[in-house]
Amino acid sequence: MRADQIRTAIDQIVETHQEWRRGCGAGEDNDAATPDALAAQALLRDLSLRLSKSSTPWPSPRYLAHMTPDVPAAVLLAAFTTLLYNPNNVAAEASPVTTDLESEVAADLCALLGMPSDTAHAHLASGGHAANYEALWIARNLRSLPHAAAAGPDTRPLVAHLPDHVLANPPTHVAIDVQQNLARAGRLDNARARAATLRCTAERGPGALILAANAHSCWTKCADVLGFRPADVHRLPLGPEHRIDVAALEKLVPTLIQAGAPIAAVVATVGSCGQGSVDDVARIVQLRDHCERDYGATFHLHLDAALGGYWRALCRTPQDAIRAWDEEHSPVSFDVYSALIAIEHADTVTIDPHKAGHVPYPAGALVIRDRRATAAVATANDYFDEAARPAGERTLEGARPGTAAAAVWAAHRLIGLHAEGYGRLLGGWSDTAQRLHQAIPTSQYRPDLNILNINSAKSPQELRAHGLWVSSTTLDGADRLRLCVMKYLSPEAMRNIGLRPLL
Ligand SMILES: *Cc1c(COP(=O)(O)O)cnc(C)c1O
Repeated sequence: MRADQIRTAIDQIVETHQEWRRGCGAGEDNDAATPDALAAQALLRDLSLRLSKSSTPWPSPRYLAHMTPDVPAAVLLAAFTTLLYNPNNVAAEASPVTTDLESEVAADLCALLGMPSDTAHAHLASGGHAANYEALWIARNLRSLPHAAAAGPDTRPLVAHLPDHVLANPPTHVAIDVQQNLARAGRLDNARARAATLRCTAERGPGALILAANAHSCWTKCADVLGFRPADVHRLPLGPEHRIDVAALEKLVPTLIQAGAPIAAVVATVGSCGQGSVDDVARIVQLRDHCERDYGATFHLHLDAALGGYWRALCRTPQDAIRAWDEEHSPVSFDVYSALIAIEHADTVTIDPHKAGHVPYPAGALVIRDRRATAAVATANDYFDEAARPAGERTLEGARPGTAAAAVWAAHRLIGLHAEGYGRLLGGWSDTAQRLHQAIPTSQYRPDLNILNINSAKSPQELRAHGLWVSSTTLDGADRLRLCVMKYLSPEAMRNIGLRPLL
């Protein structure tokens, strides 16, 4: 949108908002709180100048540092418009419009990730942290129910048919069946309380949390908050592509299952924060399914696709069908394409609209393959009347901004969750990353998505003196520069950004 179009839109938005206030029987502004309009104007002018003078220049072609996208004006205006009405998506009665928008966005995200429309569920969160916390919270609680049911004399008959190693590591559908039967018998709260007690015992604990050495730092916090002890957390090594070493996982998981040792979750990453690497999701899904076939017991698979989830748009046609792999034109490798397709088999997935979704902060999201799993963390007693319950009964967070729902909704509608929409945009980011990799001799590996690690004696601060913004990370134990490409640079734009200090 051009500046004059933005101004016209803002005029109309403010006018409509004023009408709404008058319709509410209120004045144009809450003058009781801020009676001095001139002081307010001066303050806002100062704020605006301060922001424009010193903000991080992330729209710049020379900014290749962190995961902030250049949000389109129309999406910013959708957020701004909604902010005027201050809706809180904790419950529909506080946000009739934006709760509906969130439902639409949730359906979008389920479709984007290939989740079954009849059972899947999604909601927005403040970001990847909150979504990851909630996923592990659900997995931990749901998966400890069968064992807890077996430990209670009143509920034992409900799980008498399950052997011990299945009680320890129930496939998700088995855990949900147990949960439903407990609820029908009026014993779910009781079993949840017993599960909570047992998770605090040295013998049972919360279960194992299995993730890669390069999993996002939020997992360290998450494990701590949710009561995982250091010995519960298994950090797997990385393979040569900086992806989780699936062979190590294939060794560890059957050992734990055969020993009857509970696994709370296996976490794989689609777009690691440091390297942008995409784990071999298809092979991990295969492991999960083979464990179920061989032992009747398996693990919960959570995908941390906070960064990479939106790349799945590359795999979708505008008609909502899956596109075949196109070697000649694909901006990502076959490995990455296969992993993106396989996301549809995960139990839970974190995806951040405020990264590749082109939406302002705060907007993360959690996608859950079977919505019934959320009963394992719900705070209400009524487990069957799901549609009418406030969202906040089943989310980790309470108050959530309806503004975020409107922004995500606008971005999805205007861009399109398919190869011609997000696929074209993010394909452009990947294409730019590939060309940077080819142009910079010390680039360490072919990027899976949009992040490069570069061997350089220069620091990000030194490069900033040349007007180039990059970040840093460690790779194979050494400090590297990290380039995070959140924009498309044409070959000409790439020549103009002044890469020389990096070469
Ligand atoms: C960004 C990111 C997170 C954290 O998400 P926030 O939105 O910053 O809370 C977690 N995991 C991965 C892989 C990420 O890229």
